Amino acid sequence: MYEKLKEIIEGSKSIVFFGGAGVSTESGIPDFRSETGLYNAKQEYGRSPEEMLSSRFFEKHPVTFFDYYKKNLIATWAKPNDAHKALAKLEKDGKLKAVITQNIDGLHQMAGSKTVYELHGSVHRNHCIHCGKKYGLEYILDGNNCKNTNGEEDGVPRCSCGGIVKPDVVLYGEMLDEDCIRHSVKAISSADTLIIGGTSLAVYPAAGFVRYFQGKNLVVINMSSTAMDLEANLVIRDPIGQVLRETVLI
Ligand code: ZN
Repeated sequence: MYEKLKEIIEGSKSIVFFGGAGVSTESGIPDFRSETGLYNAKQEYGRSPEEMLSSRFFEKHPVTFFDYYKKNLIATWAKPNDAHKALAKLEKDGKLKAVITQNIDGLHQMAGSKTVYELHGSVHRNHCIHCGKKYGLEYILDGNNCKNTNGEEDGVPRCSCGGIVKPDVVLYGEMLDEDCIRHSVKAISSADTLIIGGTSLAVYPAAGFVRYFQGKNLVVINMSSTAMDLEANLVIRDPIGQVLRETVLI
């Protein structure tokens, strides 16, 4: 069914995959930017996800921030799907050079991918905003680490020094990590094939990155149209997990 994509992959030596929320939805992780995500946030909090996930809101309302964040952006039960597995296999086979993702769930690494550039950070890394001490995800989810000065649990993780522990996730109003940008641009500009998957490229500045591609095969796999469809050599409108399973895993 996906013969053309198979041919492209077979003929490629340095594939780069650029992915978004659609890659993780098949693992059951809802996209907080989707219409449903937006609706639920408004219903429960009277605010938009963008507002609650901004650096300003984090500073002013950490209790609400962490309540929303933990309920909507963390899915400890989620497992890699066939898209993650296929990409890890392509890297192992020496065909794929990097995965660049807008997701923060760490599922690519869980599937075995080694070179993963996480443009928006990761829920698995956290640090104290006062002393810089690093913490994993388990720490911030443990209620014993989330007590205010009165000893009451309020969901806000605190460091042994008393500082708030902040997720290494790029919040609205914050800059992307410079090293991550540099590595991503370098990978894209030296790739012979760029596969864009599970993203409509609507979130700035993600769309700008793919403009650095100079290779010969541009593939778009997404359920809806994207900004790069017209320039792509191949556009596939099917779920990314299904496409990569049938192309790479079977
Ligand atoms: Zn600290």
